[in-house]
Amino acid sequence: MTTKPTGVKADRTEHILTITWDDGRVSRYPFAGLRAACPCAECKGGHANMGGPADPAQVRDAPDNGITINNLQAVGAYALQFMWSDGHEAGIYTWQYLRQADPALAGDG
Ligand SMILES: [Zn+2]
Repeated sequence: MTTKPTGVKADRTEHILTITWDDGRVSRYPFAGLRAACPCAECKGGHANMGGPADPAQVRDAPDNGITINNLQAVGAYALQFMWSDGHEAGIYTWQYLRQADPALAGDG
Protein backbone atom coordinates (compact mmCIF):
# COMPACT_ATOMS: atom_id res chain seq x y z
CA MET A 1 0.00 0.00 0.00
CA THR A 2 1.37 3.37 -0.99
CA THR A 3 1.15 6.44 1.18
CA LYS A 4 -0.61 9.27 -0.61
CA PRO A 5 -0.46 13.03 -0.24
CA THR A 6 -3.33 14.93 1.28
CA GLY A 7 -1.80 18.27 0.33
CA VAL A 8 0.83 19.63 -2.05
CA LYS A 9 2.05 23.21 -1.86
CA ALA A 10 4.74 24.90 -3.94
CA ASP A 11 6.20 27.95 -2.19
CA ARG A 12 7.78 29.98 -4.98
CA THR A 13 9.24 32.50 -2.54
CA GLU A 14 11.08 29.97 -0.40
CA HIS A 15 11.60 27.52 -3.29
CA ILE A 16 10.24 24.69 -1.17
CA LEU A 17 7.67 22.05 -2.13
CA THR A 18 5.73 20.79 0.87
CA ILE A 19 3.83 17.52 0.76
CA THR A 20 1.54 16.45 3.58
CA TRP A 21 0.98 12.67 3.59
CA ASP A 22 -2.07 10.71 4.67
CA ASP A 23 -0.10 9.20 7.58
CA GLY A 24 0.61 12.68 8.94
CA ARG A 25 4.21 13.04 7.77
CA VAL A 26 5.19 16.40 6.26
CA SER A 27 8.00 16.40 3.69
CA ARG A 28 9.79 19.55 2.51
CA TYR A 29 11.79 19.49 -0.72
CA PRO A 30 14.03 22.26 -2.02
CA PHE A 31 13.08 22.92 -5.67
CA ALA A 32 16.69 22.52 -6.83
CA GLY A 33 16.94 19.14 -5.13
CA LEU A 34 13.72 17.89 -6.68
CA ARG A 35 14.91 19.03 -10.09
CA ALA A 36 18.27 17.29 -9.57
CA ALA A 37 16.45 14.07 -8.67
CA CYS A 38 14.26 14.16 -11.79
CA PRO A 39 13.46 10.50 -12.52
CA CYS A 40 13.10 10.79 -16.31
CA ALA A 41 15.31 8.85 -18.73
CA GLU A 42 17.06 11.97 -19.97
CA CYS A 43 18.13 13.08 -16.49
CA LYS A 44 19.04 9.57 -15.36
CA GLY A 45 21.22 9.00 -18.41
CA GLY A 46 19.12 6.39 -20.18
CA HIS A 47 16.21 4.05 -19.67
CA ALA A 48 18.45 1.42 -18.08
CA ASN A 49 19.02 3.76 -15.15
CA MET A 50 15.37 4.51 -14.53
CA GLY A 51 13.23 2.97 -11.83
CA GLY A 52 15.73 3.06 -9.00
CA PRO A 53 14.94 4.51 -5.61
CA ALA A 54 15.22 8.22 -4.96
CA ASP A 55 18.31 9.54 -3.19
CA PRO A 56 17.28 11.86 -0.36
CA ALA A 57 20.86 13.12 0.08
CA GLN A 58 20.83 14.30 -3.53
CA VAL A 59 17.63 16.23 -2.86
CA ARG A 60 19.03 17.71 0.34
CA ASP A 61 22.46 18.64 -1.02
CA ALA A 62 21.69 20.04 -4.47
CA PRO A 63 22.89 23.66 -4.60
CA ASP A 64 20.12 26.20 -4.99
CA ASN A 65 20.41 27.33 -8.60
CA GLY A 66 17.33 29.53 -8.50
CA ILE A 67 15.14 27.07 -10.37
CA THR A 68 11.45 27.33 -9.76
CA ILE A 69 8.28 25.45 -10.61
CA ASN A 70 6.15 27.17 -13.21
CA ASN A 71 3.35 24.65 -12.85
CA LEU A 72 2.61 21.21 -11.49
CA GLN A 73 -0.11 18.69 -12.12
CA ALA A 74 -1.25 15.33 -10.88
CA VAL A 75 -0.62 12.35 -13.15
CA GLY A 76 -3.51 9.99 -12.62
CA ALA A 77 -3.76 9.17 -8.93
CA TYR A 78 -0.16 8.10 -8.47
CA ALA A 79 2.29 10.85 -9.38
CA LEU A 80 3.14 14.51 -9.87
CA GLN A 81 4.62 16.19 -12.93
CA PHE A 82 6.49 19.49 -12.63
CA MET A 83 6.98 22.17 -15.26
CA TRP A 84 10.36 23.62 -14.30
CA SER A 85 11.51 27.12 -15.13
CA ASP A 86 14.33 25.65 -17.26
CA GLY A 87 11.70 24.22 -19.60
CA HIS A 88 12.03 20.60 -18.48
CA GLU A 89 8.85 18.66 -17.71
CA ALA A 90 9.53 15.03 -18.59
CA GLY A 91 9.85 13.72 -15.05
CA ILE A 92 6.99 11.76 -13.50
CA TYR A 93 7.48 11.72 -9.73
CA THR A 94 5.45 8.90 -8.21
CA TRP A 95 4.23 9.17 -4.63
CA GLN A 96 6.62 6.35 -3.70
CA TYR A 97 9.56 8.16 -5.29
CA LEU A 98 8.70 11.43 -3.56
CA ARG A 99 8.36 9.69 -0.25
CA GLN A 100 11.81 8.12 -0.70
CA ALA A 101 13.25 11.48 -1.75
CA ASP A 102 12.28 13.26 1.48
CA PRO A 103 15.55 15.01 2.46
CA ALA A 104 14.74 14.37 6.14
CA LEU A 105 15.50 10.70 5.41
CA ALA A 106 19.06 11.43 4.28
CA GLY A 107 21.79 10.21 6.58
CA ASP A 108 24.58 12.42 7.88
CA GLY A 109 27.36 12.94 5.35
ZN1 LIG B 1 14.28 14.83 -16.27
